[in-house]
Amino acid sequence: MQNRDAVFLEDFCPKLRDRQWRKSLHSYTAKRCIYCGNASESIDHILPRSKGGLSITENCVPACLSCNGKKSDTEAFYWYRKQRFYDPRRAMAIRAWIDGDISLAMRLLQWAQPKELEKNSKIKWDIKAA
Ligand SMILES: [Zn+2]
Repeated sequence: MQNRDAVFLEDFCPKLRDRQWRKSLHSYTAKRCIYCGNASESIDHILPRSKGGLSITENCVPACLSCNGKKSDTEAFYWYRKQRFYDPRRAMAIRAWIDGDISLAMRLLQWAQPKELEKNSKIKWDIKAA
């Protein structure tokens, strides 16, 4: 591990760790909702907490309030396929995200939203390198 002190500090500041974690999730999608591409304003649990979904990266995706609210406790892919803004590239990105392959998810999202990720590519790579 490279940054032992930082890990140590974060272990004692769960709130700080949570905030940084949420920030990093948003950065992976260039602050875009993974479902529809609008600004991400919240973190959605792909498998809802009410159904045992964990608050881990593989189960948490940036989402706009509209998608987060409308999806609610519905199965994510079942819900997503019925949306007008359904995009198979985004669906693949969500699959990759669940599998823990965030870099593949980011590539698929870049394919779905080239302009947004281009603008944020500097931030994206800074965070990846950290
Ligand atoms: Zn959305």
